[in-house]
Formats: sequence, structure tokens, C-alpha cells
Amino acid sequence: MFQWFKNFFKPKRCAICGKQAVDARKYFNDHNEPVVVCRHCTEYAERRAFRKRS
Ligand SMILES: [Zn+2]
Repeated sequence: MFQWFKNFFKPKRCAICGKQAVDARKYFNDHNEPVVVCRHCTEYAERRAFRKRS
């Protein structure tokens, strides 16, 4: 029942590659939603106009 809730908050998955985001960076995607992006995908994220969360 609370699985979706856990999935939403706990495992930080990279918004781009979908893998567990090691050393995650926080971004807003193009829908203005907070997402995390792993180290390897930050370059791609910036190309997709994701904005860094400060
Ligand atoms: Zn990634």
C-alpha cells in the first residue's frame, strides 16, 4: 500500500538513465518537477535544460 510512497521518496533514481543515482545531483526537469540526476547524466540533464536546485 505504501510502496508507491517509498518509491517516491527513498530510492533516488536518476531521472535520465533510471538507475540508482549514485552521487545524485538535484535538478528541476522541464515540467518544473524536482528530480535527481546521477553524476554520469548531469551533462545530458543540462543539455535538456534541467535547472539545478540550490
Ligand atoms: Zn543517470
